[in-house]
Amino acid sequence: MRILVQKFGGTSVSTVENRRLAAEKISHAIEEGFRPVVVVSAMGRKGQPYATDTLIGVAKDSHSLLSRRELDMMMGCGEIISSVVMASTLQEFGIDAVVLTGGQAGIITDNQYGNAKILRINPSRIKKELAAGKVPVVCGFQGMTAEGDLTTLGRGGSDTTASALGAALPAEMIEIYTDVDGIMTADPRVAPKAHILDKISYAEVSQLAQQGAKVIHPRAVEFAMQKNIPVVVKSTFSDAPGTLITTAAQIAESSDEPISDRIATGVTYVKDIIQIKAELSADNAHADSSRIFKLLANAGINVDLINVLPRQLLFTVQEDDAQETKQCLGATGYRLTTLEKCAKVSVVGGGMGDVPGVMASFVEALAAKEIPLLQTGDSQTSISALIDGKHLEIAVSALHSQFGLD
Ligand code: ADP
Ligand code: MG
Repeated sequence: MRILVQKFGGTSVSTVENRRLAAEKISHAIEEGFRPVVVVSAMGRKGQPYATDTLIGVAKDSHSLLSRRELDMMMGCGEIISSVVMASTLQEFGIDAVVLTGGQAGIITDNQYGNAKILRINPSRIKKELAAGKVPVVCGFQGMTAEGDLTTLGRGGSDTTASALGAALPAEMIEIYTDVDGIMTADPRVAPKAHILDKISYAEVSQLAQQGAKVIHPRAVEFAMQKNIPVVVKSTFSDAPGTLITTAAQIAESSDEPISDRIATGVTYVKDIIQIKAELSADNAHADSSRIFKLLANAGINVDLINVLPRQLLFTVQEDDAQETKQCLGATGYRLTTLEKCAKVSVVGGGMGDVPGVMASFVEALAAKEIPLLQTGDSQTSISALIDGKHLEIAVSALHSQFGLD
């Protein structure tokens, strides 16, 4: 059986017309001899009635003290609605569809509500439905604990659902349908000169995703990579071939030129960040910072861009976690200052590690636009800077052209 996982993002299922375009992609796959397993996200984007953010808003309006477990039950509703609606569109196309929740599809997670990790997958129910000639439509973004509680997989989690199912079944290929023609050198909404990458290695796309390119979720890349399953990111709204994600070896095989890791694959950003400065005691700075990190870790708060200075600790958190961070550290008595509405811009590339002058070039691009650097961070495969969010678009475009990506 040639299984194909086809995942449709929020915009792709948002209206009747869009769902019909999605159904055409599914119908086409069946004609090609594939057995599709469909995964859907919640309908639409922020502000639309059944979008995840709207559901969170509804839950929080009435119960500000709602626990994360109950909030997950609310967040999971969006995918239930869209999968039922998608199944009804498929029936209209004469395709016999069956809706499965994440739990019914066999996705077992830990109980870290809101950002649960997949522990194992039992695809037997999906296989049974396929054997019965049906097209399973699986609610993305959801999992289930061993006790049967509904969990959600974190932002962009439907990509992870698709990829994890693709690896477990296993599928011949995973298709991620979205509202852009593929993975680009930068977010086209922010950098008008961004262009499509035809092929990209698992490692490269994983670096882009980790640094904020939300076109695919970082965990989704890992699952596909472990089983070497090709992933294609493409548009529901065009017939463009999209971006093929595969091994570096396979890309090299199909290319005439010898390939080496690109210095810069793309430019990414993360918005809505706050920078936090904590004053540490002069003689106990180490103990202070490890205490702070332990408190934040226990509260499940993700910390980024960390600088430990002799009397000061600098780090960033997402604005969504600001309230909890302040609560968590408020009682400790450390003097905290926060800087809101920051953004992180990064240049990502597997080949930058050994090349001298990359940092200089990065700083030069931002300096030329008079954009102050609030903090920087770097690894073998990326350079990042924290900047005032108001400079975001100019910064991304400046770096895009500085690194020859225009
Ligand atoms: P979906 O609901 O289909 O999962 P997302 O909004 O999660 O869609 O992801 C698609 C969006 O990702 C695009 O509309 C684009 O604005 C954004 N994006 C960010 N970085 C990139 C990139 N490097 N390449 C393509 N799209 C990107
Ligand atoms: Mg997405």
